[in-house]
Amino acid sequence: MAGGEPQRILIVGGGYVGMYTALRAQQKLSRGRAEIVVIDPQPNMTYQPFLPEAAAGSVEPRHVVVPLRRVLKKCRVITGRVSKISHDQRSVTVEPETGDAYQLGYDLLVVAPGSIARTLPIPGLAEQGIGFKTIGEAIFLRNHVLGRLDFASSTEDAAARRRALSFVFVGGGYAGVEALAELEDMSRYACRYYPDLDQDELRWVLVEASDRIMPEVSVGLAAYTVDRLRERAIDVRLSTRLNSAEGGRIELSDGEAFEADTLVWTAGVKAHPLSALSGLPTDDKGRLPCRANLTVKGLDGVFSAGDTAAVPDLSKSDPNALCGPSAQHAVRQAKVLADNLARTVNGQALEDYKHAYAGSVASLGLYRGVAELYGVKLRGPVAWFLHRTYHLSRVPTFNRKVRVLADWTAALFFPREVVSLGQLQSPRHDFERASAS
Ligand SMILES: Cc1cc2nc3c(=O)[nH]c(=O)nc-3n(C[C@H](O)[C@H](O)[C@H](O)COP(=O)(O)OP(=O)(O)OC[C@H]3O[C@@H](n4cnc5c(N)ncnc54)[C@H](O)[C@@H]3O)c2cc1C
Repeated sequence: MAGGEPQRILIVGGGYVGMYTALRAQQKLSRGRAEIVVIDPQPNMTYQPFLPEAAAGSVEPRHVVVPLRRVLKKCRVITGRVSKISHDQRSVTVEPETGDAYQLGYDLLVVAPGSIARTLPIPGLAEQGIGFKTIGEAIFLRNHVLGRLDFASSTEDAAARRRALSFVFVGGGYAGVEALAELEDMSRYACRYYPDLDQDELRWVLVEASDRIMPEVSVGLAAYTVDRLRERAIDVRLSTRLNSAEGGRIELSDGEAFEADTLVWTAGVKAHPLSALSGLPTDDKGRLPCRANLTVKGLDGVFSAGDTAAVPDLSKSDPNALCGPSAQHAVRQAKVLADNLARTVNGQALEDYKHAYAGSVASLGLYRGVAELYGVKLRGPVAWFLHRTYHLSRVPTFNRKVRVLADWTAALFFPREVVSLGQLQSPRHDFERASAS
């Protein structure tokens, strides 16, 4: 492929893989060699590990996202959704937010739409539940939880009050545990501004189908985390399933039933369905089967990485081992992917991806955390501090690092902001009422 017209490299998804791949590829390939196009329904990349802190108000929502057009100056960024990949025609179908869908051709394709929530056909879940993967969901939950405190302290109806103060999370992976712990911590802090609310009235429930939480860390550290959550009066129910959530009535497999206004589904992710819907080869979990050099098996000129790809884990002795869905892999795979795109354009041999998973860090609210890095287990404030320093070092762009640090520093000197901006959820409400009258 060396020489000739610039190759069009089309990147589907501007998340971890998409943004970091484009960022590096734009440095490695001049415009004369390649035209890089990034397509994402959002104009920004989301740094997902900060979503729990954004929900808790420790980090400003705008500081958790990276504007794609600002960082990808040498790329063309298209805000739209890819609804189909037609590899036989080497084109994708792009759906802009409004207007007609159109086709866009490519020479090389990177498929990186990430993952979606892995849901189950539980009655009432689709109507009552919400996920925790986007900045919209995180900020909605922040406003919603605080809004429930406002409602509970203002109603005379005891049952409605109990229901408003019941918060249920289903799924005990680190994302779910972090989100629950941060929001619970915030709600308890907020109670000081509601003299007629007793902290004991808050009911936070974590429902986990297996007999442990946080499969990303050792059994001992997971058990320690459960103990700390239970100390905080969080009702952790292991080996328990959600059977129904119809009409907000939560029914669990252990026989417990109660009403709750808040149901958050954090029970894992699955590969984005785009590849399967486009008829591309996928494995039994809907992931694109990749070689270690991040090319997709059976498809010429197609690369993939991140949550949507099944990438061999060369750091393990098991030849069938695959890299798990994590930012840690995604960001490192993106580096190799960008280099391999440049090598492909320059007609050079490709390099394999190899990285041994370093471990996990998780925040459980202010000054509380757990971490397991290279086999070393840490707990409490030390782990929390490590969580913050690690993610500060990882959040993209110097600009974002300074802003996040400024958020944390301000929080040391001023009280936490615990106001619900629930009006953001329906901004036209007042105007519609005014127009109607
Ligand atoms: C709350 C939370 C906390 C986490 N914390 C950690 C952590 O501490 N450590 C860690 O290692 N991992 C963590 N993860 C996991 C990590 O964020 C993911 O593994 C990582 O984002 C995967 O990168 P990706 O590029 O494959 O997908 P993403 O980063 O999700 O990017 C996918 C992109 O594709 C776009 N897209 C979707 N559909 C389409 C379409 N049809 N067309 C075009 N674009 C599309 C999306 O808008 C998105 O921008 C966390 C995840 C969550 C949800």
